[in-house]
Amino acid sequence: MEEREALLDRVSSSDGTGVKDPATGAVIGRVSFGTPGDVAAAVDTAVAAQPGWAALSDEERCAALMRAADAIEAHAEELAYVLSREQGKTMDGLGARFEAAGCAIWVRTAASTPLPVEVLIDEPASHAELRYRPVGVVGVITPWNWPMIIACWQIVSALRMGNTVVQKPSEHTTLSGLAIVEVMNEALPPGVLTAVTGAGDVGDALVRDRRVGKVMFTGSVKTGMKVVEASAGNLSRLTLELGGNDAGIVLPDADPQAIAEGVFWGAFINSGQTCNALKRLYLPDAIYDEVVDAVAGIAAKVPMGIGLDEGNALGPLQNQMQWNVVNRLVEDAKARGARVVMGGDPDAGAPGHFYPKTLIADIDNSAPLVQEEQFGPALPIIRYTGLEQAVEWANGVDFGLGASVWSADREAALAIAVRLQAGTVWINSHGGVDPRIPFGGAKHSGYGLEFGVEGLKAVSVPQVISG
Ligand code: NDP
Repeated sequence: MEEREALLDRVSSSDGTGVKDPATGAVIGRVSFGTPGDVAAAVDTAVAAQPGWAALSDEERCAALMRAADAIEAHAEELAYVLSREQGKTMDGLGARFEAAGCAIWVRTAASTPLPVEVLIDEPASHAELRYRPVGVVGVITPWNWPMIIACWQIVSALRMGNTVVQKPSEHTTLSGLAIVEVMNEALPPGVLTAVTGAGDVGDALVRDRRVGKVMFTGSVKTGMKVVEASAGNLSRLTLELGGNDAGIVLPDADPQAIAEGVFWGAFINSGQTCNALKRLYLPDAIYDEVVDAVAGIAAKVPMGIGLDEGNALGPLQNQMQWNVVNRLVEDAKARGARVVMGGDPDAGAPGHFYPKTLIADIDNSAPLVQEEQFGPALPIIRYTGLEQAVEWANGVDFGLGASVWSADREAALAIAVRLQAGTVWINSHGGVDPRIPFGGAKHSGYGLEFGVEGLKAVSVPQVISG
């Protein structure tokens, strides 16, 4: 066994369901899935550990989290290996090593973000201040696209604020979820971070457990709505990071060569399986062909293949279900007469869930590939003539996670950016997140913020001390 395989071996169970490498179909490990009945025991553990964890000083909790970041760094290659084998992403580029490194960065930043007591009034006759208390137990439910870093985002803020956490990874990337918890637990006191495995019914049981005061949910809009319903009986606090269908609007003054690489990676990072990827590209008449050609030129040079093969920059889709979604949307676009600039011709018989890098131009804005979240490496490109039209189309979906505007003139881009109904609008890039900058969605992309001081407040109960 290679040294970097040790963690995969540790989190894999001796029996249970075989976990397949999405690139090859090879069985890489086993998971013994839990059931809704296992949730209560995990929450028992979290409830028992919470008072002791909350009783530590903020400095002590942050020090423990910094040690968890050290552990992540010490095991970074092993974590990346689990991710690449189970999620499919490449070791290189914006892939598995990038995600593992990001976990440590997020943990360190959340553990060093100041959250002082806020003095609201300080007058001779009146004093009021705002403090943030722990909620208690936080349930963290995560998807399969960035299974370690999304878990870290939520776990670390919750722990920092004195909560304990029960995490439910997606059944598609259970080993990745278990691996990050296992490594962080090398540094954390027993019981403060627990994982429960299983499918949606396990997530549902976690949401319904009356002792879970806050649920951090990242996933699809459809499941997010179920989480809202299931939480109603507990009045649990919720942060919902749901899907996206981010528009990118290129202004006529943009330099096609200068923006092509940013546009490409904004759309194709993690083979498009990214909530805040650029999923619809709006191009003006004036530079339409030039941008299409420039993006296609970049795409042609990016190698897609097995994640473990160093040098590949894009991997397969994680599962057949998502492959079917992408294939359906692209086939529909072709049937409507849209132009395939590249890709769109998957080899359904080949091993793994590979879908080729696909650019679909001359597509009508009403096509499902534009209106639905494709969550894969297939980018629709829509021509616009007037900017008003582009803004209306960009805002014309229920999603509102991110958007981008591309221009040589920042002021011109800004004037459009503020009109877009999205939680984040990037100018001349798309999709970058930063642990110091709040991130969250508008409309059906969810509510609540993560990261920065707002992310810490989101896993707390505000308390006013007056007098
Ligand atoms: P799902 O909504 O299918 O699943 C998300 C998580 O919820 C999984 O752990 C899933 O378990 C669990 N789950 C399923 N049913 C229930 C239920 N009834 N109650 C509680 N939990 C449940 O999303 P995907 O995993 O398919 O992820 C892809 C989606 O996530 C995309 O729409 C993407 O845009 C979005 N996303 C949003 C992000 C953001 O920050 N806004 C970031 C990343 C992804 P299981 O998988 O085992 O069924």
